[in-house]
Amino acid sequence: MFVLSGPSGAGKNTLLNAVLERVPEVDYSVSATTRPSRPGEIHGRNYFFLSPERFRQGVEAGEFLEWTEFCGHYYGTPRRFIDERLAEGKSVIMDVDIQGAAQIKRQLPQVVSVFLLPPSMAVLHQRLLARATEGAEAIRRRLNKALLEVKALTDYDYVVVNEDLDLAVERMKAIISAERHRVGRMDCQRIIDQVTRGNV
Ligand code: 5GP
Repeated sequence: MFVLSGPSGAGKNTLLNAVLERVPEVDYSVSATTRPSRPGEIHGRNYFFLSPERFRQGVEAGEFLEWTEFCGHYYGTPRRFIDERLAEGKSVIMDVDIQGAAQIKRQLPQVVSVFLLPPSMAVLHQRLLARATEGAEAIRRRLNKALLEVKALTDYDYVVVNEDLDLAVERMKAIISAERHRVGRMDCQRIIDQVTRGNV
């Protein structure tokens, strides 16, 4: 289980799309949100776009592994998808804010957390302006939020600075690969049996 956090505009979506394309056997956990969809976003692929009422019902019914309020909208990780992947021993990446990451770490301590940073706040501002998905007020809120969020960096296991997309993707792939090779995550007995089978 991987958690990816980082300020809005750090490039999480672009990074995730590239990683999901290039790394086999990793699923993306599609979150639920009450924020309106942006042009090109697809219900069920980018987010499950829910009304505030439906979201609240989900919270009451315990449908979310974690949920949070971010810049005036609710976001939550559907629990069932994560439970199923955990049971199958499959890798999942969740894109959540710093509060969500902390909640998930408390429930699933084995989660590996990665913080994606822009090279500077100026670049972050430029990216938010360039993608033009938020108005001036929303951009200001997201920048203020980003200043607070970066302070949570020390709570994470890994940090990737996104000054170049290809480099950031390579670093993310390296993190996933390294974590998959941890002895603690392996079926060591099976490996020992395999290696020593038929030995003289
Ligand atoms: P955006 O509106 O830009 O798609 O996302 C805003 C913030 O919400 C980002 O920091 C993103 O990581 C976070 N986010 C997206 N989905 C979830 C979720 O399911 N849970 C939490 N806690 N944060 C989320």
